Amino acid sequence: MSRAGLLVDSHGRVMRDLRISVTDRCNFRCLYCLPETEAAFNFYRGRWASVPDPTPIARQWTPRSKILSFEEIERFVRAAVELGIDKIRLTGGEPLLRQELETLVGKLSRIDGVQDIALTTNGFLFAKKAEALKQAGLKRISFSLDSLDSANFKKITGRDGLGEVLSGIRLAKELGLHPVKVNAVVIRGVNDHEIESLAEFGRDQGVAMRFIEFMPLDSARAWLKELVVPAREILERLQARFSLKPLTSLNMSETARRWSFPDGDGEIGLIAPVSEPFCGHCNRLRITADGRLRTCLFSVTEHDFRDQMRAGMTDDELKDWLKSMVLHKEAGHRIGQRDFVPPARSMSCIGG
Ligand code: SAM
Ligand code: SF4
Repeated sequence: MSRAGLLVDSHGRVMRDLRISVTDRCNFRCLYCLPETEAAFNFYRGRWASVPDPTPIARQWTPRSKILSFEEIERFVRAAVELGIDKIRLTGGEPLLRQELETLVGKLSRIDGVQDIALTTNGFLFAKKAEALKQAGLKRISFSLDSLDSANFKKITGRDGLGEVLSGIRLAKELGLHPVKVNAVVIRGVNDHEIESLAEFGRDQGVAMRFIEFMPLDSARAWLKELVVPAREILERLQARFSLKPLTSLNMSETARRWSFPDGDGEIGLIAPVSEPFCGHCNRLRITADGRLRTCLFSVTEHDFRDQMRAGMTDDELKDWLKSMVLHKEAGHRIGQRDFVPPARSMSCIGG
């Protein structure tokens, strides 16, 4: 496909990866995403004094009529694939809360040109849907798991669900989903004491354990730089324990820097959007459950296509619209800069 037929932005980056949020609802209340539990409140309370103007985002679940139907998502994906997108990731909110998710996976996996369909989930409901999702064409999965201690897991997620998530990870491996990745958001004073045990878990289970820096995308706007554990610090701690070896990647747009263990199958990934931004190679687009295009995780502007589709926009018009939106993709985020403005919606609405 010539560059003219691709989604190229004004910085020369070509879009390949589409993340689709299928719902903004969630059955967890992670303190870095939807901090609405008493434990989350208690954790942030002492720290809020140092935040000039904590303005929690008022949250309401989006009504069903405003959520994209599977047919609308499929139509959008077909257009995007014709313009060079080949990787799809379903996310949320919690994507497993969307009824019949396997039907959507089936529809998308039948689109010519879709090379890869992945799912990001908190894993709590995975067992119920695992077989059906695999049958429908799901290839890869990422679980979120921030603690191996059930009390800490509950403090972080607001849900007593560690056992379910661990079973989900085992089941995904048994079913042959590959790779199985496990994401942990590391927060100072919350789960940074578990970094080594989470890495050991990855090694023992033979899964890719990925540590993610805490980003200012929580619904309480309670993020503080002091709560971020920089990837470099995580790496130093892991090196002291495991003598990791760097893995080289040919994929410049990969978000994680990857490491292998001298023994064991697992892998470590470090994702450092705050301390070492990787925007220069970003090839990702996102669509929200209510039909808006986001050209950056930190976009402050969202572009509606749901209403345009419902008003009769043709496929060619949709593709032209998409190309013109991508042209204006942001150069990068501005976390840590004086003029940084957080997005109006939290990670649970944007789709991680
Ligand atoms: N509910 C699913 C889950 O938790 O995996 C999918 C949606 S969640 C928004 C996607 C990813 O975003 C998860 O791995 C989660 O840990 C991550 N995430 C959410 N809020 C974050 C934040 N403030 N900083 C960094 N990562 C965050
Ligand atoms: Fe946690 Fe994911 Fe739900 Fe956010 S969307 S509260 S990260 S489970």
